[in-house]
Amino acid sequence: MAKPHILVLGAGFAGATFCKKIDTSRYDVTLVDRQNHHLFQPLLYQVASSGLAVPEIAQPIRMMLSRKRGLKILMDEAKSINLDQNLVEFSNRKIEYDYLVIGLGAVTSYFGHPEWERYAPGLKSIKDATTIRRNILYAYEKAEGETNPEKRRELMTTVVIGGGPTGVELAGAFIELAQHVLARDYTEINPAEAKVILIEAGPKLLGHMHPKLSESALRQLEGMGVDVRLNTMVQDIRHHEVVLKDMAIKAGNIIWGAGVAANPITNSLSIKVDRGGRIPVLPDLSLPGFPNAFALGDVVSLVDPKGQKVPGVSPAAIQMGQFTAKLFNNDDIKETLEERPEYVYWDKGMMATIGRSKAVAQSGKLRFSGFPAWLAWLFIHLLFLVGFRNKAFVLAQWIYHYFTYRRGARIIHSSEDLDNANGKEMEEPKPKD
Ligand SMILES: Cc1cc2nc3c(=O)[nH]c(=O)nc-3n(C[C@H](O)[C@H](O)[C@H](O)COP(=O)(O)OP(=O)(O)OC[C@H]3O[C@@H](n4cnc5c(N)ncnc54)[C@H](O)[C@@H]3O)c2cc1C
Repeated sequence: MAKPHILVLGAGFAGATFCKKIDTSRYDVTLVDRQNHHLFQPLLYQVASSGLAVPEIAQPIRMMLSRKRGLKILMDEAKSINLDQNLVEFSNRKIEYDYLVIGLGAVTSYFGHPEWERYAPGLKSIKDATTIRRNILYAYEKAEGETNPEKRRELMTTVVIGGGPTGVELAGAFIELAQHVLARDYTEINPAEAKVILIEAGPKLLGHMHPKLSESALRQLEGMGVDVRLNTMVQDIRHHEVVLKDMAIKAGNIIWGAGVAANPITNSLSIKVDRGGRIPVLPDLSLPGFPNAFALGDVVSLVDPKGQKVPGVSPAAIQMGQFTAKLFNNDDIKETLEERPEYVYWDKGMMATIGRSKAVAQSGKLRFSGFPAWLAWLFIHLLFLVGFRNKAFVLAQWIYHYFTYRRGARIIHSSEDLDNANGKEMEEPKPKD
């Protein structure tokens, strides 16, 4: 008898975990991702700030799942999902399924201002991280040869928008990059002129954390020299300019770290999604009206049976992957909806790193900041990084940075950058098609 076919969309934390755990002797499983690699997004900011190189935070999907016998892996982009026909349309093929697992993650959201993306890239992919890194390094290269003080100050100003974990991590990493790398390796520019401004619309940083840790993060960032502006709403973003209510800031680089929404493919579903495009799954993570289709990770909107709103973080995605694989492996999938087990989020805590020996962390009632939080952050990120090779390389890099303050991943490449380095003015980016 033919085995039931499970189609898994996305090899992120959720999809990859599901594939690792599913019993392929009982199910035919096809995993499709538009990339050939699994990406460890929590360390993307270190690529953007020249701390780590791309291969250190990514791993080929085939390598990661090479021990999983019978798993079919395809590289293709899902375009639409037809739940009524059990069919997914990709760029190059259509695939039918008996069961569907959607783990397509999130995208950067500009809250109704898609035009801002041209001027303020977000941080969600390797391309985003390397674009940001190139633009920052290039701005410093230009500043080194710039004689107009006003223009030089602009080039050396970086604005980060959004005071959540991504914004805090980026702001801390950029100020360290400016202070340590500029001070050592450039001769004409004064590192004291390098400015990093972090803008947050709300009254505190890291809004999801305990107020004491938000305050601690603010103090630590300000102590490093970041100009933090709370209760500050961005009105508009233009080419090298952020417009606030009563002023405009000229900046060589503007980075958007203020919001995410679910993968827009969720709009092709025949069920209602929430304002952020997230799928309101049932307690067993199946889609309402479609007990053979499941959604996991960042595409999901869920309040679990304990009343916890499940956040868009990697532990939740991993747990959902494990939970769903168990549903299949234990035959719970054959039960009626009412009899299937319910997913309960296990909140292990939250943390954000700010800089060298600086971080904040909370787990239950335990709260800590500074060096202990930073050590915990390093340990947990190493533990969850996929692959022994990556763990070893990242650990070696961190030890090297810690003792030398140097950042190795600072190569600007591609012909566009060479044009720029040859003196062509940085042009206003063209709108995307
Ligand atoms: C900069 C940054 C920092 C973060 N820091 C932390 C942190 O410190 N701690 C933490 O817990 N979480 C952090 N997160 C959040 C965490 O990364 C996500 O919650 C987690 O990745 C969600 O897992 P997922 O499997 O749902 O989606 P993802 O891991 O995003 O995986 C989605 C997969 O789907 C694929 N895909 C997307 N669209 C298509 C398509 N149309 N067709 C085929 N394949 C497609 C993608 O290539 C990707 O492989 C961070 C996220 C970012 C962006």
